[in-house]
Amino acid sequence: MYLRKIYSKNVIECLNSSSYINHLRNLSSKSLKPNVEFITDNEKITTQIEQRRNKQQVSPLIDSFGRFHSYLRISLTEKCNLRCQYCMPEEGVPLSPKSHLLTTDEIIYISKLFIDQGVRKIRLTGGEPTIRKDLVEIIARLKEIPLLENISITTNGLVLTRNLVSYQRAGLDSLNISLDTLQPKKYETITRRKGFERVVAGIDLAIQLGYKPKINCVAMKNFNEDEICDFVEWTKDRNVDIRFIEYMPFSGNRWETEKLLSFRDMLNLIQQKYPTFEALENKPNDTSKAFRVPGYEGQVGFITSMTEHFCGSCNRLRITADGNLKVCLFGNKEVSLRDAIRNGCSEDDLIALIGASVLRKKKQHAGMLNLKSMENRPMILIGG
Ligand code: SF4
Repeated sequence: MYLRKIYSKNVIECLNSSSYINHLRNLSSKSLKPNVEFITDNEKITTQIEQRRNKQQVSPLIDSFGRFHSYLRISLTEKCNLRCQYCMPEEGVPLSPKSHLLTTDEIIYISKLFIDQGVRKIRLTGGEPTIRKDLVEIIARLKEIPLLENISITTNGLVLTRNLVSYQRAGLDSLNISLDTLQPKKYETITRRKGFERVVAGIDLAIQLGYKPKINCVAMKNFNEDEICDFVEWTKDRNVDIRFIEYMPFSGNRWETEKLLSFRDMLNLIQQKYPTFEALENKPNDTSKAFRVPGYEGQVGFITSMTEHFCGSCNRLRITADGNLKVCLFGNKEVSLRDAIRNGCSEDDLIALIGASVLRKKKQHAGMLNLKSMENRPMILIGG
């Protein structure tokens, strides 16, 4: 009955007791056959799974389709200093009171819990994570956790020229910077704010500091399709990874099928100008299909969530800023780890709660047409 209390209101399915979780776990340990294809690139994870199997234990981070979730994305805030049209409804979103958001200590506690279970990469997102005053402290404290291999952030890049050196000193391993246009006027239209020059300066600083930043560019018809080749040209002298993201439907982002600029459309556009544009090898859990123009310093990737989803190799879990575990970007079932922690839930119960949620993760998202009508949080409240 305790678990019923700690589930958030928007959880559709509800578990009654920890015995039900044990029942699920027993079922899973008998029937799970992890798909080694997803994990063969990472010997450590494979060994870990084998060890657990030998001990008749199954990681709570393995779902019922054999996907091992070693990558956690934690949203630090619901606030953002931009108002991007595809992310935030024009009228804004109701924000949670500060007391509902995870504290620094809770973020570190949850991170450790997941790292103990096998997470090796954590991405800090938002809203805009650089808004949070304790970002440097969070990075530094995560860096102290020995098994964590990569700490990264996704940022709009507005404050990088001021803060990136501190993030790097604290231990930031990599970063993604959002930029949907190379034209200052258009930047103002899409973000409803100024700041283009600062973002570009931030990208150049990141390169100078030794990073190879990923530049997230949401591709949309009648918005930036005329700039796709300009972005590719940007990789000539800049060691960046431009990642074109297919436009996705979220609550309040006025998604229309007609705005979708598909991977195939973009590839055609690029190949007309760059006939030698070539595909690179991808790792099993890569969300992006990598390409480059031979001889160019940087590279290009396509995140094809809508036209060629990559759910089969998904290794991602998300924690929202208000502490809900969201096992799928497009799933609306969430469980409040914040409430569980604040109600004194034991570590074992928390792990069982996480395991039960992971086991309920669907095989794949519902498809472009269905997603449009599904209820989900706006992107700003999920954390990308
Ligand atoms: S839609 Fe869900 S299952 Fe598919 S890749 Fe995204 S998070 Fe993973």
